[in-house]
Amino acid sequence: MTNLRDLTYEELESLVISLGEKKFRAKQIFDWLYKGVASYEEMKNVPASLKEKLSENYYVFGLEIVKKLESKIDKTKKYLFGLYDGNMVETVVMYYKHGITVCISSQVGCAMGCKFCASTIGGLVRSLSAGEIIEQVIFAQKDIGERISNIVMMGIGEPLANFDNVIKFLVNVNDERGLNIGYRHISLSTCGIVPKILELAKHKFPITLSISLHAPDDESRSSIMPVNNTFNISELIEACRKYQKECGRRISFEYAIIKNVNDTINHAQKLSELLKGIMCHINVIPVNNVDENDYEKPDSAKIKRFCDFLESKGITATVRRELGSDINASCGQLRKNNL
Ligand code: SAH
Repeated sequence: MTNLRDLTYEELESLVISLGEKKFRAKQIFDWLYKGVASYEEMKNVPASLKEKLSENYYVFGLEIVKKLESKIDKTKKYLFGLYDGNMVETVVMYYKHGITVCISSQVGCAMGCKFCASTIGGLVRSLSAGEIIEQVIFAQKDIGERISNIVMMGIGEPLANFDNVIKFLVNVNDERGLNIGYRHISLSTCGIVPKILELAKHKFPITLSISLHAPDDESRSSIMPVNNTFNISELIEACRKYQKECGRRISFEYAIIKNVNDTINHAQKLSELLKGIMCHINVIPVNNVDENDYEKPDSAKIKRFCDFLESKGITATVRRELGSDINASCGQLRKNNL
């Protein structure tokens, strides 16, 4: 069985035609899917015979809200969504002055093994389909009753390890007949799967690429991120330069700053040298608490010195505002099966 939301508009149209129906039926079905129906029954103006034929190979399912938490500090909402097969993922809705942002997951669990991150505990169960990725946006939007304008692919999973489905998701989420979210309002974050960064560049989507760098040298990066043993820093930065040449967009580097691991001026110095000539922005994230490890944030004066040093070298660096900290909805705190 395939999720009907895995199809692009064009694929849905061909399917409807192949079933001997008129093209406009695809438009009706697409509308229902993106409005957030949870079953074929809800598609009122679609003939029962067509729905029956579709349901032989395609299912329509509404993500189930297994749990929902709301931050008392900043209104951030975290959903634990139940998928068609009983697996679960977390999705976060954040309220900013410029609009509402959803942080979505791309896999159930994660195989990357970053030492500081809760999403990788228990490893990877499976990748999400394109439809399951987009359903997080659809059903979060339906629940809050307001339009979501921005998407960050910064939830559970490594998007570039689920490449084809993520590409299809990007095409579908941008479709003006559906959610119509512009590429400039989408960020995709990766721990650094070099060949896939180069493949993504070829698509030239004007999205923001975020690189989870977290350390400026191979020794410290490999100690916290196993992926660095496969693709080292120089290969990663080379790929970033190529990506930027191809897409012309500013790259965002994420730097989870951790006490006694990567927080010295020496690290900041190396970082500034590494990123020389790349049009970029550094997002410094004071490492968030995860019970299973004992990484700690440096004190705020030290974080400020780190950022000030980068700024003195002409690199913009901002400390990411922590949202949803009282509901474990911050970076690196999302999990599968969070009950
Ligand atoms: N796998 C992708 C997408 C995850 S995005 C990636 O690695 O980029 C989530 C971001 O939060 C990543 O930058 C990740 O490294 C970071 N992160 C993970 N655990 C964290 C923690 N405990 N504190 C702060 N940031 C963390």
